[in-house]
Amino acid sequence: MDDPLVARMRGFGTTIFAEMSALATQTGAINLGQGFPDEDGPAAMLDVAVEAIRSGGNQYPPGPGLPALREAVAEQKRDRYGLVYDPATEVYITVGATEGIAASVLAFAGPGDEVIAFEPTYDSYAATVALAGATLVPVLLRPEGGRFTFDPDELRAAVGPSTRMILVNSPHNPAGTVFTRAELEVIADVCREHDLIALTDEVYEYLTFDDAEHVPLATLDGMRERTVTVSSVGKTFSVTGWKTGWVTGPAPFVRAVQTVKQFVTYAVGGPWQQATAYALRNELGWVEELRKSLQGKRDRLITGLEAAGFTTFRPQGTYFVQADIRPLGFADGMELARALPDKAGVVAIPTQVFYQHPQAGAPFVRFAFCKQDHVIDEAVQRLARLS
Ligand SMILES: *Cc1c(COP(=O)(O)O)cnc(C)c1O
Repeated sequence: MDDPLVARMRGFGTTIFAEMSALATQTGAINLGQGFPDEDGPAAMLDVAVEAIRSGGNQYPPGPGLPALREAVAEQKRDRYGLVYDPATEVYITVGATEGIAASVLAFAGPGDEVIAFEPTYDSYAATVALAGATLVPVLLRPEGGRFTFDPDELRAAVGPSTRMILVNSPHNPAGTVFTRAELEVIADVCREHDLIALTDEVYEYLTFDDAEHVPLATLDGMRERTVTVSSVGKTFSVTGWKTGWVTGPAPFVRAVQTVKQFVTYAVGGPWQQATAYALRNELGWVEELRKSLQGKRDRLITGLEAAGFTTFRPQGTYFVQADIRPLGFADGMELARALPDKAGVVAIPTQVFYQHPQAGAPFVRFAFCKQDHVIDEAVQRLARLS
């Protein structure tokens, strides 16, 4: 029998994260590839989940999510950003941000539609757009002044008669960029002028460093009415395995997302939802400590990578550093990432996997710093062997 996989999903075989994590296990290398923290979220939040399981919260929660969590999300949007959403009709709970993004893309884009996204793109975007039968149109983020940013003219030129929406990830994984208000204004202008939907992935909304400020696109003039925002518990509270996320936006948009999502997973685990509602209301102080600690880890990893001979980009948010491999005499990040576990006992992700045109990302590899200090120290000592 021929490959049973539907044609539009061919080319999305095994993710690089699976390949690299398997390599880490085989070789005993330190895994700075996949971005999951090696320390748990706040203890009281974990207790709420355990208590919810022990006290009978184990059957289907409501499809749109537990009212307590939808209310907590609405309060968080209001208190932090001044964005007002009706918890009954404008907040919807999903299986992580991943499902929120997938359900939104499937709800708004179909065959013949184009979806603009900034490249490098988080790995689920291209696959999800393909699943929808739509086409991803990349706009390149280029290194400029120590950070990755886009050329406004290239964004404008990417819009055509079939453009349906723009997918915006800020703070950006894997580039580490936090879009400035001025950059967001350019995106908002394009959306308003061409009547596009904006889909924003804000899973790192709390993890910004130095003076970078996370500005939700929905807070800009005329944008709330056309923006669907996705976030989740995983990165903010260091529980990436909980896969509990949310979509916020105008009621008709949220209803469209619901129409798709209800037949994919229907609902997500009640105990995680209860604990997430608790965390959003009571553990933001813990998140601020996490943010500070991550900023220190970022600096620790960067100092070590620079000493080992890489040139680095200091991320303004997320927990990833982009490192340029050319000063060490390498040209292809994929080749280096595959050799790195043997050469140096460390796993990194080749940035080129996040591009439609891999050559733009070839000189870079991505290292995660959401790891304990001693793990980072050991990794950079090993990497020092490269030069
Ligand atoms: C981790 C991550 C996600 C996935 O979030 P989940 O809540 O685990 O599904 C989505 N977008 C970006 C940019 C991420 O880094």
